[in-house]
Amino acid sequence: MTDPFDRDAEIQRFNAQGNRYVQARMRLESMATSEAERRVLAHILELTRQAQPEVQAVVEMSVFMDDQAAIFERIRNVAMPRQRAIAEQVGSLVDLQRQQTNQAVLDAEEAYLHVRTLMLSLGTLALATGILIAWIVGRHVTRQARQLADQALYDPLTGLANRTLLQRQLEYEIGLARRDGTSFAVALLDLDRFKAVNDTLGHTVGDELLREAGNRLLQAVRAVDTVGRLGGDEYVVLLHDITPEEAGVIARKLLDVLDRPFHWRNQGIDLSASMGIAFYPQQCDDAGGLLRCADIAMYVAKNSGQGYALYAPEHDQSNRNDLSLKSELREAIQSGQLTLHFQPQIDHRSQCVVGLEALVRWNHPQRGFLGPDSFVPLAEDAGLIGPLSHWVLRTALQTLLLLQRSGYPLEMAVNLSARNLQDTNLAASVQALLDEIGVSAKTLTLEITESAVMDNPGDALAILSEFDRMGVTIAIDDFGTGYSSLAYLKRLPVDKLKIDKSFVLDMEKNDNDAVIVRSIIDLAHNLGLKVIAEGVETQDTWDTLEILGCDASQGYLMGRPMPAEVLIAWLRESPYAKNLKRSLAVA
Ligand code: C2E
Ligand code: CA
Ligand code: CA
Repeated sequence: MTDPFDRDAEIQRFNAQGNRYVQARMRLESMATSEAERRVLAHILELTRQAQPEVQAVVEMSVFMDDQAAIFERIRNVAMPRQRAIAEQVGSLVDLQRQQTNQAVLDAEEAYLHVRTLMLSLGTLALATGILIAWIVGRHVTRQARQLADQALYDPLTGLANRTLLQRQLEYEIGLARRDGTSFAVALLDLDRFKAVNDTLGHTVGDELLREAGNRLLQAVRAVDTVGRLGGDEYVVLLHDITPEEAGVIARKLLDVLDRPFHWRNQGIDLSASMGIAFYPQQCDDAGGLLRCADIAMYVAKNSGQGYALYAPEHDQSNRNDLSLKSELREAIQSGQLTLHFQPQIDHRSQCVVGLEALVRWNHPQRGFLGPDSFVPLAEDAGLIGPLSHWVLRTALQTLLLLQRSGYPLEMAVNLSARNLQDTNLAASVQALLDEIGVSAKTLTLEITESAVMDNPGDALAILSEFDRMGVTIAIDDFGTGYSSLAYLKRLPVDKLKIDKSFVLDMEKNDNDAVIVRSIIDLAHNLGLKVIAEGVETQDTWDTLEILGCDASQGYLMGRPMPAEVLIAWLRESPYAKNLKRSLAVA
């Protein structure tokens, strides 16, 4: 028999368990989510429902009956097995839930790992992106900084050193040469005729040429040398550790690379350069002085047409002379120190003088007679070419009037400078002189050098067209020496080509010159132009020109440039003037 104390405890346990089941059921109901859970829960509910009357009966028995044993029997035999069944079901539900919880934990862990990996990757990506952005920004900033620095030190067009960097490099070279007891050279280069190319072909082509010229120079020098651009068409080359004896070879090399034609759209463009070279420490020992000396030497090179010149102290002297001449020239024009000489121009067909060329001279009070080559360029530089040309024109036209009135049916040729073509008032002032003096425009020829025309193609076209309308004859002087575009020449209202004397003087000995002379004559005639040769010193040359069909000639053979008085005697006596219909009433 069971101990009544045990039985009490057992009933209490049953009740407590019942309470727990109720609580568990409520909890489970609220939590049951999976299909399996719901199935187990339904089963529990069914079992509970079946157990309900038993439990009810036990409860009632315990209220209405005193028979503890019967109650206990009933509990043990009926209610408890049912409760156990329910408990088993609850247990399996709990297991199921535990399993699911475990699975959920596993899932969660897995998900967490996923997320963690994802976060880590994202984090890494973000970090990498951050670093990348920082790098890009950094690089951009450095590049900008470098660009700014570059702009400050390099010429944006050619990429060569600019004035600032050249200056620094020059100081650096001076330091090196001083320390090592070596010498170095500063070469200043200037492209000839660049302005003409720029004006005729446009700035894009001009820029391209400047870049190309820079590249060629860069390739022609050693890595230790510096090439820079000062602006415009001026380049500087610093030739490291070099002596004056070695300079000639390098100078020629630099000039040669620029002499090769430049190509643009199947067109060959001929440029050349002039170069002045100064040495440290032989000539100057500071940066500014070196550049100044190189500049003076370049001026000498340009004027001599020799390509390059090494600086010499005499250049400085001649520079000072130039300065004093310039200041005296203004005075000379006003005070009658200038005079004109006249050189006859002879027609081949009639063998007779048809024209005169007026050539200016300066009877300098201290220096004596100066030729135009020694002061016309100075007049251009000093802005005095306007007054000078005006004086020459006036004097030449006055002489012409005198001769015409004396019965000499002559024409007068007057030289104009490149600078004159920039004077927009020129045509008007020539017309005013013609009117004032009373000479027909038809008897005036203006000679303009080929290079002057090509240096100012735009100006030239405008002014020449005006002269053409006025009826003035235009001759292209020094023809054959300049960079001339035939297509361009055809558009100009030109009447005459004047073959440069450099070809004529040697044409009897030099076949090339003879070929050039013949070609110019044919070319002129094909273009419907007259042609005149200058520099005829021998009878052979005269004869050859005649055979080639040259229209007229000028030269020492027939007559030198002469002052007016000598010219009048020449007109009386020369065989080239004997057929001239003239009145003898010459003053
Ligand atoms: P250009 O116009 O070519 O003038 C011809 C030059 O050749 C003159 O030199 C003349 O004396 C010289 N000549 C003439 N025949 C012969 C010859 O048979 N053999 C040799 N060896 N030479 C000969 P010039 O008078 O010294 O003039 C030099 C240049 O000065 C001229 O060259 C001209 O470009 C310029 N010029 C002269 N007068 C004026 C002027 O009034 N105004 C301007 N703007 N320039 C002038
Ligand atoms: Ca001339
Ligand atoms: Ca000439």
